Amino acid sequence: MKFFIVHAHPEPQSFNSALTNHAKQSLETAGHEVQISDLYAMQFNPVSDRSNFTSQKDPTYFKQQVEEMHATEVDGFSADIKAEMDKLEWCDVLIFQFPLWWFGLPGILKGWVDKVFASGKIYGGGKWYDNGVFAGRKAMLSLTTGGPITMYSEIGINGDIHSILYPINHGILRFVGFNVLPPFIVWSATRINDERRKSYLAEYAERLLTVKETPAIAYPSLKDFNENFQLKDS
Ligand SMILES: Cc1cc2nc3c(=O)[nH]c(=O)nc-3n(C[C@H](O)[C@H](O)[C@H](O)COP(=O)(O)OP(=O)(O)OC[C@H]3O[C@@H](n4cnc5c(N)ncnc54)[C@H](O)[C@@H]3O)c2cc1C
Repeated sequence: MKFFIVHAHPEPQSFNSALTNHAKQSLETAGHEVQISDLYAMQFNPVSDRSNFTSQKDPTYFKQQVEEMHATEVDGFSADIKAEMDKLEWCDVLIFQFPLWWFGLPGILKGWVDKVFASGKIYGGGKWYDNGVFAGRKAMLSLTTGGPITMYSEIGINGDIHSILYPINHGILRFVGFNVLPPFIVWSATRINDERRKSYLAEYAERLLTVKETPAIAYPSLKDFNENFQLKDS
């Protein structure tokens, strides 16, 4: 299978980097192909503006989605965005590797999504959820936290981790059609000992090598909603 890892950590010696390096090694040893976008190493510019485009639909008023639809028609995305779109098109499995920052994605990765998941090319015109561009492919979050698992339970002080990740899992990945696998989470990455971190690396490799058999998170399907996009019979 073809794995595309979008890696968002500024430190090459971090545990996030260890996870990505271990993923690449384990997957390639098992005969899979891996591409990595190491966003900090690439100095990926997360700021969305006219530099996203080589084309221009309306020079008087910048509206990103209008420019994205135009760029889709005229092949007008900047080279850095096109390169990421090509990797997305190539992959069977998309992985986001990141430390949880303020209950969400680090800005550089959010900016990557803002720029690369472009209207026209990646979503829009009926291409969403089950009918999304990436229907049939898989995506998975791999993240580390500062806080322990107990903080992120339903009764924990930070709230349920699955609710925290819902905007990413559902609002981004499922929205564009991916079957979203349960996240791989390293809890309290900085507080645990080396031995536990090493066992996490082994568990992560196991998760990656079994993505084919891992059931996706069960979200309602488009046909479960009425014309007002509300669940039928509710
Ligand atoms: C802006 C910001 C916002 C944050 N918001 C949140 C939040 O909302 N919720 C939350 O819970 N936390 C939050 N944090 C904390 C953050 O999530 C954690 O610090 C992060 O997840 C830890 O992962 P890391 O890769 O950076 O760890 P690192 O500190 O890089 O690594 C941890 C340890 O692993 C060691 N290590 C590296 N490679 C290996 C290896 N191969 N084997 C064994 N050990 C190894 C490192 O040497 C280090 O000692 C935030 C942090 C920041 C900076």
